Amino acid sequence: MPVGIIGHYRCGEHNMGEHHPENGKRLTAISDQLIRSGLDYVVRQFDSKPIDKSLLALAHTQEHIDFVFDNAPSEGEENFIVGEDSVMNDKTLTSIMYSAGAAVDAVDLVMDGTLSAAFCTTRPPGHHAEHDKGMGFCFFNNVAVAAAYAKQKYGLKRVAIVDFDVHHGNGTEDIITNHFNATPEDDKGYLFCSSYQYPLYPFEIQESDIPPIINTPLAATTKGEQFREKLTAHWLPALHKFKPELILISAGFDAHIEDEMSHVSLTEADYRWITDELKIIADEYGEGRIVSLLEGGYAPSALGRSVVAHVNGLIGN
Ligand SMILES: [Zn+2]
Repeated sequence: MPVGIIGHYRCGEHNMGEHHPENGKRLTAISDQLIRSGLDYVVRQFDSKPIDKSLLALAHTQEHIDFVFDNAPSEGEENFIVGEDSVMNDKTLTSIMYSAGAAVDAVDLVMDGTLSAAFCTTRPPGHHAEHDKGMGFCFFNNVAVAAAYAKQKYGLKRVAIVDFDVHHGNGTEDIITNHFNATPEDDKGYLFCSSYQYPLYPFEIQESDIPPIINTPLAATTKGEQFREKLTAHWLPALHKFKPELILISAGFDAHIEDEMSHVSLTEADYRWITDELKIIADEYGEGRIVSLLEGGYAPSALGRSVVAHVNGLIGN
């Protein structure tokens, strides 16, 4: 079965201001590298549809959904800031709808067997968005919506979310624990594994090895070898024990050595390594099903090359 790339050009139109690192050129850099690598001929490419707004309530309060929609600027209106740093321009709401739409479309395409795995060029990203608020360039939590959607529509019993963005997926943890009410005694069918530089934004999270939350902090000096050792020790045994029927990935590439957002020094080979490890688990327990969503990654060339390594891993090239 083929691997798919799902997104929409309108996800590139959301603009948080001149020189902002989370900009539409990130998506251009990804598509340039997919073309350069020849992968654009290997994968199937899909335009996402705008998400059905009601699905956002799978992960968010109606108050937060209404707050974002009611304050979204119309054409020509001034920007509106959600939280401290998530800026909406007059194109943002459309980008949000196509970004979250890509996540649920990808779940459908993987669950109905059209694709074995999918990578979504989701922008704006989502993993910092909590149950009742947006933050950290995120408005709605694409991966949490996709996880709940997969369970609701397809009756999956065990969905794992793994997050190798260099920032902790605080929003995803918040939704799993405070909205899905998953606890160590009753995981509600979710497992969340997050690796992140610590201390670094959003700062407050501490280590956990108790499912459903596996938090794996990384020292600023971390290179690929230590990254692989940590994930081998903390993530892989928990994932094998959990036996996920679907793996969702919050795929941020801002731990790359060329990315100035952090001090962690990963390379494309490390992203290929973790993708290979996750594919082994998906093949063993979940018929190979992986849906991967773009989160961070702010050095355009490194981002594009890392996505190529990641997609090659999903394909098994
Ligand atoms: Zn990040």
